[in-house]
Amino acid sequence: MAETVMAACHRCGRMFATPLQVDRATLEAMVLTEIYRCPRCGHESTYVKADHVHRLIVVDGGST
Ligand SMILES: [Zn+2]
Repeated sequence: MAETVMAACHRCGRMFATPLQVDRATLEAMVLTEIYRCPRCGHESTYVKADHVHRLIVVDGGST
């Protein structure tokens, strides 16, 4: 079952939906190279995957 991958902004903590729609197995096999921009504070970063119980989620990779 495909789910929307959520990203969590490291700067402001807001979660937002990425354009990605994948299932968990696909996400686990993926290498995330896209840069996402937070719609709240405009912070741009690459994101890394994080384990989460209920949702597929990626978190700010903290490239700075
Ligand atoms: Zn933000």
